[in-house]
Amino acid sequence: VVRVLPDPVLKQVAARVGTIDATALAVASDLVDTMRAHERCVGMAANQIGELIRCVAVDVTGHVKAVSCSGLIVLFNPVVAEAEGAETGREGCLSVPELTANVRRAIRVVVTGIAPDGAHRRIEADAFEARALQHEIDHLDGILILDRVSSTREVFERRLSS
Ligand SMILES: [Zn+2]
Repeated sequence: VVRVLPDPVLKQVAARVGTIDATALAVASDLVDTMRAHERCVGMAANQIGELIRCVAVDVTGHVKAVSCSGLIVLFNPVVAEAEGAETGREGCLSVPELTANVRRAIRVVVTGIAPDGAHRRIEADAFEARALQHEIDHLDGILILDRVSSTREVFERRLSS
């Protein structure tokens, strides 16, 4: 079940993962399953399924706005190691189901983290994939799209025509 506002877990800071044990892997696989279960969902963070560990899943495969695409990305302890440029784009979030928001994000990022197999991973992403990664990493710090807008004029009711 995806947690939605005002669930307090969404505002909490998730803990770094020490060892990637069975529990951590189960969270990762739950994240991927939940993402796949929601059409057009391109990313999920552990807070959204009520788990306070630093784990995200992103997959922008086939998305019309994607430029770079690394396929399925699952990372523990993800960090934005480098960021370049800035642009504003509309974002939605399963945890904020009734609203979308214009959020300013870096255009190109390098994200590092640990893959489920324990290997260090370095991902260069731009455009939509970079935005998705930044959005999910924000979740781990308890930050939602509504915390990232410059004013209430940047928040919109979601169109119900889906
Ligand atoms: Zn979200």
